[in-house]
Amino acid sequence: MLYSRGAKRNVQTPNPMTTRTIVIYPDPRLRAKAQPVTAYGPALQSLVKDLLETMKAANGLGLASTQIGDLHRVFVMDVSEDGSCPIAFVNPVVVSRKGQQKRQEGCLSIPGVYADVLRAAEIRVQAFDPSGQPFERTAVALEAVCIQHEIDHLDGRLFIDHLSPLKRERVLEPLRTGAPQSLFGAS
Ligand SMILES: [Zn+2]
Repeated sequence: MLYSRGAKRNVQTPNPMTTRTIVIYPDPRLRAKAQPVTAYGPALQSLVKDLLETMKAANGLGLASTQIGDLHRVFVMDVSEDGSCPIAFVNPVVVSRKGQQKRQEGCLSIPGVYADVLRAAEIRVQAFDPSGQPFERTAVALEAVCIQHEIDHLDGRLFIDHLSPLKRERVLEPLRTGAPQSLFGAS
């Protein structure tokens, strides 16, 4: 997930980094459903490291495995102002949802496209850390949105799937024509 249009933070990115190529819409790999992680070994550690470094280099708030062509249920997130609180979720499951919120979302896999999406306001999520330790987390506001956006990716769903067909056509128009989305307004 990305910050709202125009919003940026100042993150120092260390070099050299192992960044992976981000899969871009409408690549069918974004529609694949990721499978549960069963081994908490070096391959998982390396996937998490690549996700974190790729997210950071792209100035993203979150990045799911399916966005770099991997099919394990893993995503990373850092919603802090300065990119200092990275966290990895392995086999995440939302166990409760409360309320609703509408927030503008963007996606590293759908560059230049932003839209308001209606999501749960508060969620409780269960997951494992990369060493296999289970944890639970309650998230609200931007963090709750980011977690829901990333878990959607693991199920092959994109934020534009939450829009009405008409709205989706409208926000995706710039991808077809190459025109800047600002011509269409930011709502
Ligand atoms: Zn995304």
